[in-house]
Amino acid sequence: MYRVFKFGGASIKDASSITNVSKILKSYIEDDLVIVFSAIGKVTNMLEKIVDAYFYNEDDPFALLDDTKQFHLNIVDTLFNEKHSIHSDINNLFVEIEWVIEDKEVNGDYSYIYDQIVSLGEFISTKILSTYLNECGLENNLIDARDLIRTDNTYRNAKVDWQKTTNLINSNIKSKWCITQGFIGCTSENFTTTLGREGSDFTAAILAYALQSKNVVIWKDVPGMMNADPNFFNDSQLIDELSFDEAIELAYYGAKVIHPKTIQPLKKKNIPLYIKSFLNPNGRGTLISNNAPISKLPFYINKRNQILISISDSSLSFIIEKHISKIFKILTKYSTRVNMMQNSAISFSICVDNDKHTITYLIKDLQSSFKIYYNKGVSLYTIRNYDKSSIENIIQNKILLLEQRSRNTIQFVLKD
Ligand code: ASP
Ligand code: MG
Repeated sequence: MYRVFKFGGASIKDASSITNVSKILKSYIEDDLVIVFSAIGKVTNMLEKIVDAYFYNEDDPFALLDDTKQFHLNIVDTLFNEKHSIHSDINNLFVEIEWVIEDKEVNGDYSYIYDQIVSLGEFISTKILSTYLNECGLENNLIDARDLIRTDNTYRNAKVDWQKTTNLINSNIKSKWCITQGFIGCTSENFTTTLGREGSDFTAAILAYALQSKNVVIWKDVPGMMNADPNFFNDSQLIDELSFDEAIELAYYGAKVIHPKTIQPLKKKNIPLYIKSFLNPNGRGTLISNNAPISKLPFYINKRNQILISISDSSLSFIIEKHISKIFKILTKYSTRVNMMQNSAISFSICVDNDKHTITYLIKDLQSSFKIYYNKGVSLYTIRNYDKSSIENIIQNKILLLEQRSRNTIQFVLKD
């Protein structure tokens, strides 16, 4: 029975981190493993800049591509001797992207080009990792994720064809250790797709689902799932065990440790998910499963850079269904997700991500039919299992703009 491991960008951010991963993997030599890697460090962001440079002529895409190449070659130089064939392998991968951006006429749609360029990060990282691990005596097979994950052609957010994917995975994953790219899929016409930012966790879940694996381990730079982001809360605690249902809720409200799509497939097949630290591989981490005891510990989730928009009818009449339906039509047009909403007699308030690409257009569009007030630079706080003192923790010294509570969950829109 396979176990599925996923290592994210932070765990392989430089040569010494890669060596650390090889040490962790050595202790699993007895296991059958499928290992998923995302791109090295922040490479996906670097590649996104290349796409923007190519599309909007803001920067020189070739110069940016060269920086990205140099970044990888520095790592390769440390891990391998100069005559090793990995150098030309990496060069060849970059040549494919040069071909895409040499096409001066921008043709093709943004999302399609995005996937062709941005997927490079995972093809490079897995090439380096697979080769390096083989050199360390950790024998493995590198398998192209495009031979495993079949999707539709919704570029940048491709939808998985579960039936075909399950068949492909079961016919192509055979050897004791297989390595593949996270985040990447392929259409039936053989075009590369991506599953959405941070999608490598989801890849691990897809593989586990298809293989009915024994468990999944996501290796992170935190000790496990914490009840609050340690960067913002002083007394955050490690969660030993969590149920899938609770994990889905937390991911929905914005807990960043796991990608929201990851949980469902694992829950369906009852496959336990461990979150462990690659900095402390023997630490106990967090176990997410169907059998976790119910926890009453408060969970704090913080979404920053929000905008609170208050929408009313231009003649200040009551907000009724026809207004709400119109508002949602406009939100759908910009694919804007509503993180919190509330209505009163004459206004409807929504809290959404202050997305720099869409928010100005969204507001303009709303203004053509409604009277709009908005507050930028606000944060949305959610507390699961709230009590008096956890609320006090959050709202003290802040301006409260909006509040909503249910039995288990309370949410605040706050200004610092
Ligand atoms: N490399 C991709 C990203 O940064 C996928 C992932 O890391 O999960 O979004
Ligand atoms: Mg990542």
